[in-house]
Amino acid sequence: MDIALASTWIRAVATAVEEHRDQLTQLDAAIGDADHGANMSRGFTAVSAALETFEPATVGDVLVKTGSTLMSTVGGASGPLYGAAFRAAGKVLTEPSASPRQLVEALHAATAAVTQLGAATLGDKTMLDALAPAVTALEEALFHGADLAAATAAAAKAAEDGAHATTPLQARKGRASYLGPRSIGHQDPGATSTALIFTTLAAVVAAR
Ligand SMILES: [Mg+2]
Repeated sequence: MDIALASTWIRAVATAVEEHRDQLTQLDAAIGDADHGANMSRGFTAVSAALETFEPATVGDVLVKTGSTLMSTVGGASGPLYGAAFRAAGKVLTEPSASPRQLVEALHAATAAVTQLGAATLGDKTMLDALAPAVTALEEALFHGADLAAATAAAAKAAEDGAHATTPLQARKGRASYLGPRSIGHQDPGATSTALIFTTLAAVVAAR
């Protein structure tokens, strides 16, 4: 991944968030406060604007800028969580291009940041339930010799499967956990937006 691809990815996420804004809102309306679509839209609109004038020297610069902008523009839990994730990933990627191996390391750092800040574990019905399996799938695919396109496609599939698998879970973290058993039967909005970020990554890598 080079700087141009990272920038293309983040801009494509902004477009995807707009396309899925209503879906994210509806999912959050079911088990939260119905602001996830608006929050993600506001955040990535600001990110797109910030990247317009930004001159990154490394792949990490793009991701750190993304994370910092999300932190300062997105309310609720998702701003700090996505902000920390992108910033942690970006801090690993200190060169103008990143190898697949470095991308895996960056995503491990993002996962660690989300895990620490959210104090969540797998199965808590959070974004981690999409993020962690995606990173595992990416790493395994690369280990078995897949190219980046195939590996990111595998990661996207794992993220989507992970997001779908949150539906029967009872939330143990975040606002949805206040609902107790009534959180069962709804897909987690944060896991859904995380899956969107990975499906977008796979799409831009495939189109490269
Ligand atoms: Mg919300």
